[in-house]
Amino acid sequence: MGDTIFGKIIRREIPATIVYEDEEILGFRDIAPQAPVHVLFIPKHRPIPTLDDATAADAELLGRLMLAAARHAREAGLAEDGYRVVMNCREHAGQTVFHVHLHLLAGAPLGHFGTP
Ligand code: AMP
Repeated sequence: MGDTIFGKIIRREIPATIVYEDEEILGFRDIAPQAPVHVLFIPKHRPIPTLDDATAADAELLGRLMLAAARHAREAGLAEDGYRVVMNCREHAGQTVFHVHLHLLAGAPLGHFGTP
């Protein structure tokens, strides 16, 4: 799906360290980690460029992204200490890949965020 770099990862055209996969969702390590654990969760079949492009028809899929991140965090032993999930939307959030994705950040206390 799509012609982003994430589409190439889904089609196994470029390598990625895949740590989670189910029918709908792929989870793989971010190539430029911003925390000791930094995993990206993406939908495999439905092309949604940004969260702003999502509709009510995408509600279940977006929920599945969240639950996939939570499940992976639990199975990786990260849930007790805690973690952060982030979705960047367009320019001011610094979105660079226009295939909707959820960041899971964990493995150490995380700094403050959100300031310009
Ligand atoms: P965003 O800035 O929210 O669009 O996030 C895109 C993320 O994709 C960034 O954190 C990049 O480091 C990551 N990224 C880009 N190319 C790859 C790749 N080939 N494999 C894994 N992560 C990537």
